[in-house]
Formats: sequence, structure tokens, C-alpha cells
Amino acid sequence: MNEFVERDVRLRWYAPRRSYDVVIVGGGGHGLATAYYLATRHGLTNVAVIERKYIGAGNSGRNTTVIRANYGIPEAIRFYQRSLDLYARLEAETGRDIMHRQKGLLWLAHSEAGMRAERARAEVNTAFGAQTVYVGPEEIKRICPQLDLMGGGIWPILGASYHPEGATARHDRVVWAYAEGAMRRGVRIHHRMVVKGLIMEGDRVTGVETDAGSISAGVVVSAVGGHVTGLASMAGLRLPIRTHPLQAFVTNRYAPGFEPIVASSSLLFYVSQTAKGEMLLGAEIDRQPSYSYSSGHHFLQSCAHRAVTLLPFLRDLRVLRQWTGVCDMSPDYSPIIGKTDVEGFYLTTGWGTWGFKAIPAGGEQMAELIATGNTPEMIAPFSLNRFAKDRTLADRGSSGTH
Ligand SMILES: Cc1cc2nc3c(=O)[nH]c(=O)nc-3n(C[C@H](O)[C@H](O)[C@H](O)COP(=O)(O)OP(=O)(O)OC[C@H]3O[C@@H](n4cnc5c(N)ncnc54)[C@H](O)[C@@H]3O)c2cc1C
Repeated sequence: MNEFVERDVRLRWYAPRRSYDVVIVGGGGHGLATAYYLATRHGLTNVAVIERKYIGAGNSGRNTTVIRANYGIPEAIRFYQRSLDLYARLEAETGRDIMHRQKGLLWLAHSEAGMRAERARAEVNTAFGAQTVYVGPEEIKRICPQLDLMGGGIWPILGASYHPEGATARHDRVVWAYAEGAMRRGVRIHHRMVVKGLIMEGDRVTGVETDAGSISAGVVVSAVGGHVTGLASMAGLRLPIRTHPLQAFVTNRYAPGFEPIVASSSLLFYVSQTAKGEMLLGAEIDRQPSYSYSSGHHFLQSCAHRAVTLLPFLRDLRVLRQWTGVCDMSPDYSPIIGKTDVEGFYLTTGWGTWGFKAIPAGGEQMAELIATGNTPEMIAPFSLNRFAKDRTLADRGSSGTH
């Protein structure tokens, strides 16, 4: 059972300095990866990450760990493919076992319209650098023998897109690997410290007010997940973000083993198997915007009902645990990453229900922006001002789940 015990991570905690070149608010994957790449790629180490709870306490420690690049628009495919490639090398780079497993992802179609959508996904993915092919029922059954191709007589499986590079990685190990790598190079991470306000000089952000005093900063980065609206408003920014809860659950162990990740756009659920053998299920966001972390029976009932329709073996398993995160949903299902009109204040948000896979590329690109002052070409389309310029990036391949 050693595989599930992490004994080696070396996290070093120091007292805060009064001033840093860069202060990152939020010790989730995006904040920590930004710090890691600032240190490793650009030699910037006078950097602090401030986390109000423990690192990974937010969505980065609550997600269903799906990594994929089979998005619906060129800008997203390029970005997520970069992230997928960085993930594949992360164990070698950090020397830490993040339990990265390539599993392949099936995205099922249950209607003519669904088949067209999955064919289109395969075409656009291939054109812009992600590996996705369209497969018929016979191949689907070979990849995932547990699927009932009749869909319980209600949702027949007519075809699917198959993304062989779809993968999972253990979420808290990703967080720890980035934290350790950043700390080893001199970045300071301050946990159990809350940012309560931003220090402004005129129109510029020059630091943060915390419950342990004020800290000045050349640049402040907001990486606070579903809590971004409150932090951005301290800088006078109103964002096109709504925070919605997202729930997930795991069952007890399914001994025969379940290889791929399976998703259905029509039934709006997805499923994979954890390394312990639990079946891990997620679905769409709660419709009502809220900051609530409570989990409900309604979600369990509705998600389980849909999943059992396609995977009848699930009805013999028991629900072990259920949990919730609060997601920073953008209106076009694309991230918002980059500078803002407030000098010294940068944002990485709009990661909604899909930002775990984005952690390596999001951190890498944000670090380059901070270090060089220039917005990298890869994230330029994802700037905040796209909404004012009518250049939104509606992405059906993101569409609100995993
Ligand atoms: C149930 C669920 C399933 C998901 N499944 C997937 C999936 O399969 N694949 C995928 O790609 N994505 C998935 N996601 C989305 C993904 O988890 C997130 O998009 C991603 O983790 C966001 O990372 P982050 O670093 O931006 O935010 P977070 O990980 O939420 O980190 C933000 C941190 O900021 C801290 N913070 C907030 N306010 C303050 C403050 N004032 N001062 C100091 N610290 C503060 C919080 O405590 C938190 O730790 C899922 C999310 C959920 C909830």
C-alpha cells in the first residue's frame, strides 16, 4: 500500500518577509505552479504564495483529476495540449510521483447531433495538435466492455470521440510537487494566512493586507479559485465570473478494473477509476450560484441514475464519500488569465470546472508574463478585455464539466 503514502515531500515553512517582488494569493495548483515556474524558468525567487487554509484546500484538492486536451476551439486545444505535455513530464522534472496515468477518454454520442459533435471534435483536435479519433460502437465496446451500448434502452451509444492521451494524476501530489519545487528554490509559502485587502497607491496595487500584517509587492497575482470576485473587487474590478458549487463522489472498490475515462455530453456525467479502485463520478455544476461547500442527496441521486443507465455494474457499488468545491465560472467556459487594467494586479481565473488539467501550462504562461512583462502568445486570447472587445471564446469542448 506504499503507493498511497507520501513520505518524501519536504515542505519548508519560514516567517513572512515584509516585501516581495511577487505575491501570489491562493495556494492552489495555479498559484503554486506560477511560483514554481517563476523560480525554475526565470530565477525569480523573492516570491510568496499566501494561502488562507492549507495548500490544495480549494478546488485543486477536490477535483476529479481528469487531464485532457480534446477541447473545441483552436486556442484552447493548443493551450491544453501544452499542459497535457507538461503533465506527462512532471514526474521526471520534479522527481515526485504524481501518479500520472494515461487512460484514454471516450466521449459518447447518443444521437445524430451528438455524433456530428464528436466527429467535429475529432476533426478540430487533429487540426490543432491533439490526438482524437471518431470511433463506432464496436471499438467503444473494445475500449470499455462495461458500457451498455443500448444505454438502458433510452440513451443508445451510437459513436464516440476517443482521446488516447486523456489521463489522470493524483491532485494533492501535484500541489505538493509544485510547492516543494518552489520552496526548494527559495519561494516562501505562507499557509493559514488570509489576504483581507489590497494596498493601493493611486490606481496601482502595491501589496496585500493580511491577518498577519501588510506585505508590499511589485506584482500581486490573484489565484483564489471561486473566491476571485471578492478579491478583484478590492482592486475595483468587476469580473464576468459567477461562482457555482460543483460536486463529486466515489464508490467503494470495483475489483474487475475500469481502464478509460468515460464522459457523456447528453447525460452530463463522467467517470473514471482511482488507483485504489474506487469509481469516481462527477457531473455538471449546481445551477444556483453560491459559495456553499455543502453536498446534497439530490446530486447523488441524479448523477448515479444517469451513470447506471450506461454502466449497469455501478448499481452494485456503494457511495463512500461525496464533496464539493466552488468554481469560478466564466460565461464562455474559457479561462481569464493575464494583466488587468489595474497596474500591478494580475489574474488567473475562469478555471471553472476544468482548471486542474490547466495547472502546468497556466503556471508556466503566467510566470513568463510576470517575468518578461509581455503576454505570451498562447494566453493572449484569454485576456480579460476580450469581453469588452466582443472577442469571447465560447468553447463547447469545455462546456462546464471536467
Ligand atoms: C468537484 C470538482 C471536480 C473537478 N474536476 C476537474 C477535472 O476532472 N479536471 C479539471 O481539469 N478540473 C477539474 N475541476 C476544476 C479544478 O479543480 C479547478 O479549476 C482548479 O483546481 C483551480 O485551481 P486554482 O489554483 O485556480 O484554485 P484553487 O485550487 O481553488 O485554489 C485557490 C486557493 O485560494 C485560497 N484563497 C481564497 N481566498 C483567499 C484569500 N483571501 N487569502 C488567501 N488564500 C485564499 C483558497 O483557500 C484556495 O486554496 C474540478 C473542480 C471540482 C470542484
